Amino acid sequence: MTASDVATRFRVIGLEDRRFNHEKLWNVLAPHIASETIRVEEIGRSLQGRSIRALHFGEGETKVLLWSQMHGDESTATMALADIVRFFAEGDGDPLRERLRRNLSITMVPMLNPDGAEDFTRRNAIGVDVNRDARRLATPEGRALKELRDRLEPDFGFNLHDQNALTLAGKNGGQVAMALLAPAADEAHSYGDVRTRARLVAATIVSVLEPTIGGRIAKYDDTFNPRAFGDLMQAWGTSTVLIESGAIRGDPQKQNLRALNVLAILEALDAIGTESYRQTDPLLYESLPENYDIEHDVILTGGKLLFGDAPPLEVDLGIWFYDPVAREGARLGDVGDLSETPAIEILDVAGLTIRVETLGDARRCPERDAPVIITVRGENDAIVHRFGSSETGQR
Ligand SMILES: [Zn+2]
Repeated sequence: MTASDVATRFRVIGLEDRRFNHEKLWNVLAPHIASETIRVEEIGRSLQGRSIRALHFGEGETKVLLWSQMHGDESTATMALADIVRFFAEGDGDPLRERLRRNLSITMVPMLNPDGAEDFTRRNAIGVDVNRDARRLATPEGRALKELRDRLEPDFGFNLHDQNALTLAGKNGGQVAMALLAPAADEAHSYGDVRTRARLVAATIVSVLEPTIGGRIAKYDDTFNPRAFGDLMQAWGTSTVLIESGAIRGDPQKQNLRALNVLAILEALDAIGTESYRQTDPLLYESLPENYDIEHDVILTGGKLLFGDAPPLEVDLGIWFYDPVAREGARLGDVGDLSETPAIEILDVAGLTIRVETLGDARRCPERDAPVIITVRGENDAIVHRFGSSETGQR
């Protein structure tokens, strides 16, 4: 079975909405992890007492540790790890599974920050960003991960996150579907053995994803951060790759990204197990465009803006979404000459009129970032585009 077959054949039912909590996750996983081939271990408890669990599979020499949802609102890889553990539990006899079992000892920690996941928010219950707690280890979540690492001393690590959807693969690139990083282990960004191996694994992932999302893969910001887990894992001797899921148009629940995570992770694990990753060209990773953060989801260009009794103005208008993945909750961005401003989507609305409605003071155009309803109309006032306002969703 290929890794992409696994993503469909072993998809865990019940995680179709990317917002799910700890109880939901472990309920839907329960029938699958009851298998004898999976060992379940509590590695700690969150601040609010939720069980943080590790799942172990395989008896190989090379040790790999994967952890997801250290940020509570970044659930894509948790869904993927659920599918992967189901494959490990139920894929008996499959050659890929047998190879992984023989070559590797795999430990997965899905949902490291269950209290954050409960409210689908980044930080833990007392407001700490767990990914800035790798050095001080004040949080039970951070300590659980560090103690697990110190006990296992894994050769490889996968640090699994979601990033801002408002990111381009380089200034002129497409919206980033996935970003990768072999984090620096020191200020000098040196390439010792540990980081060199991580870079080759990252390059392997690029080669796996390129046929599907080529042009939408980027390199994450590689500033050394001495408080972050990815960077310190690297420094502690675990070759660590950061995988950040971004956004794909038409994938509001990140189910396509979930499948791409399954593919990327399984292929990377297999390459580690067979050591084929050593033959990968590091340039595949090094030549990736860098993440380029932008402010606008949509720019309307060439239209005539109508507001109140004022004469129509020929200006561009920017929009960002409160939930840029689901594209819900329109907010007013910049207005004016935006011909140099990047956006995920630039819509030519020449010859059309644009109207901005707001809940606030209707005498002047709403403030930047205000919730708005924007309608673009053509002949006979027919609506061509509409961007509605909604308070739902998370940015
Ligand atoms: Zn994150």
